[in-house]
Amino acid sequence: MPEIAQVEPLTTARSLRGPFDYRLPDSLRGVEVGSLLVVPFGRRRVLGVVTGLAETTDVPPERLVAPLEARELGVPAELVRLAQWMALEYCSTPARALSLVLPPGTAAGMRERRALVAELTPDGRAVADETAPVGTTLGSRQLAALAALRDGPLPAADVPGGHGTLRRLEARGLVTLGSRVRARRPEHSSVGAAAVDAPALTPAQRAALAPVSAAIAAGHPERFLLHGVTASGKTEVYLGATAAALERGRGAIVLVPEIALTPQIVGRFEARFGPTVAVLHSGLGEGERHDEWLRLRRGEARVCVGPRSAIFAPVTDLGLVVVDEEHEASYKHEGDPRYDARRVAERRAADAGAVLVCGSATPRPESVRALTRLRLAERVDGRPLPPVELLDMREVRGALHPRAHAALEEVRRAGGKAIVLLNRRGWSNFLSCRSCGRVWECPDCDVALVLHRAEGAMACHHCGHRERAPRACDSCGSTSVARHGTGTERLEAELAAAFAGFPVFRLDADAAAGRGAAGRVLAAFDRAPAGVLVGTQMVAKGHDFPAVTLGLVLDADATLRFPDFRAEERTFALVTQLAGRAGRGPAGGTVLVQTLTPESAALVRAARHDSDGFVAEELERREALGYPPFADLIRIVCASAQPGAAGRAAAAVRARLDVPAASVLGPAPLFRLRGRERAQVVVKARDRAAAVRAVGAAVEAVAADRAHRAAAFSVDVDPQ
Ligand code: ADP
Ligand code: ZN
Ligand code: ZN
Repeated sequence: MPEIAQVEPLTTARSLRGPFDYRLPDSLRGVEVGSLLVVPFGRRRVLGVVTGLAETTDVPPERLVAPLEARELGVPAELVRLAQWMALEYCSTPARALSLVLPPGTAAGMRERRALVAELTPDGRAVADETAPVGTTLGSRQLAALAALRDGPLPAADVPGGHGTLRRLEARGLVTLGSRVRARRPEHSSVGAAAVDAPALTPAQRAALAPVSAAIAAGHPERFLLHGVTASGKTEVYLGATAAALERGRGAIVLVPEIALTPQIVGRFEARFGPTVAVLHSGLGEGERHDEWLRLRRGEARVCVGPRSAIFAPVTDLGLVVVDEEHEASYKHEGDPRYDARRVAERRAADAGAVLVCGSATPRPESVRALTRLRLAERVDGRPLPPVELLDMREVRGALHPRAHAALEEVRRAGGKAIVLLNRRGWSNFLSCRSCGRVWECPDCDVALVLHRAEGAMACHHCGHRERAPRACDSCGSTSVARHGTGTERLEAELAAAFAGFPVFRLDADAAAGRGAAGRVLAAFDRAPAGVLVGTQMVAKGHDFPAVTLGLVLDADATLRFPDFRAEERTFALVTQLAGRAGRGPAGGTVLVQTLTPESAALVRAARHDSDGFVAEELERREALGYPPFADLIRIVCASAQPGAAGRAAAAVRARLDVPAASVLGPAPLFRLRGRERAQVVVKARDRAAAVRAVGAAVEAVAADRAHRAAAFSVDVDPQ
């Protein structure tokens, strides 16, 4: 029996060199790779993950200590390996990578299936329903907590205001609190859920599914790209592949970009497979996530549907990994480690011997090059893709082209539905003083503040800074303030004014703030007999609203203007995806795209539904410029509040970088963010692993140099 456990302490320190050895007493001989132990660490007690077991150690016996206790739940060994790989792949630390694969709630010390649950008393219900007067005044937090409990008991952690508020309500006899054992199966809004039975597949769907099922049956870890136009029935192929995996006694992970925006796909998996489907996402309370995780860990659930973090779901005997809408940028994680769930999915599938299926109507050039392509060239039922017309806005004043106005008016008169996309939230993009020209900027970032009129506030969309909307200019006192540009908030108001009697629904990060809000907007639009859905790129996700006959894109150039090599790809995808929302029903549809550059290749290709032509041209361009997939990008950002320090640190990193066969760009200044100057260095690498190592070494050396104490460093492999 091994006597030594190698433990990686879960601390955020970058400089720590784990794992560390601990002596296992007889009582802990059952620990395995992935077990969670509380260990003495210096003078602290910390939680650690067992990454290995050994018979011997170099640590002298007098210094070898024992763990304090073991947690009842651990992590599967394969996820420990995955995390270790991720730490190297993304230039992070094992502890940070491991923290991503822990059971939900572990850090907070949650125990299995015991949660403090709050419930309204009859008095509490009367107050919450406003059928009884409140004796003495209740605070706004207390009222919010009561309102949250109206639909039934909730884990205390999920009630706004937290424990303190609940204890005060308990003292007043409005709420009871008890430790309860209760299943916390999450509820989902199942907008437009499909029927339970699988429809007969179309010949094209059958042809696409066959090689996937064959690979699953044979246990070959093949990798497929399901390149299918919008509404071609890709989801039905994922469902078929999942059924094939389950038949073989194997599990599946299905990644979707954002649960809140795609409740339909969750609904379809649950309708088809019932309780063997677990859902993991951040919109659930910690208790619910914990329970779903446990159901998977125990094998009670075999299929996990969720956003990028679901790639770490403890699905046992994994046979299939699906990445739906694989072009979506939300698969990239912005915290450390900055992992890309698509790449992690490839790795996890390969390790498990599972089949990978990535699907999209607008696949990334990277995937087209690397994966075996399967096609769904037509929509289900052979309905045509909607014609896309580009509208030249160079001569037009106002937000809407006359053609767009007429088309919306027609939909209104017919009592139909339309979707309007404007990728900019708020009322106006920026404000300026008509008399002295001052522009209102964020005090902490070098960007203009955006007016949010309903709140009477100006907001920074980069750091979240908010201030009151100005009545007068601070510099000259003038009260004449100009509002420039149009965001979704203003567009909503303008459409409501211009098209009387046509209900307007708005979906953007502001309208969808708060749990379930996005789903409610989508459900309301779905239920309404007629109306227009206005919003940011959120409206172009995989929604299936058959009554939508018109899609309209305003300012299609906004994404093209981004200084990013993926600008064309993003623009092409956005227009194509919005077109995908239109004409899904028997009435057909049209798409109008307002632009200042109607000659741009990305828009012309999108208007022709020419995804192959676009990808071919894009691959050529990227090869010529040395961009992915022909090279890997690694981005190092140095930031500091001290003037000049970020630039000096970036220069020092650049000087220390010794990367074989790579070109290095920079240091280049970035705009100031959150009060810190920033500078970046970008490496275009041919040998990814060597470059990641070289970057890690250079950053570590500069970070350890006292001369660069004032700077913070972040490394992003495959930046988006
Ligand atoms: P995609 O994921 O490619 O956008 P979906 O899978 O959502 O497409 O399919 C579009 C619509 O067609 C959905 O309403 C779906 O229920 C329906 N559908 C898909 N496959 C079939 C089929 N074989 N028979 C009948 N209806 C289908
Ligand atoms: Zn002024
Ligand atoms: Zn800011």
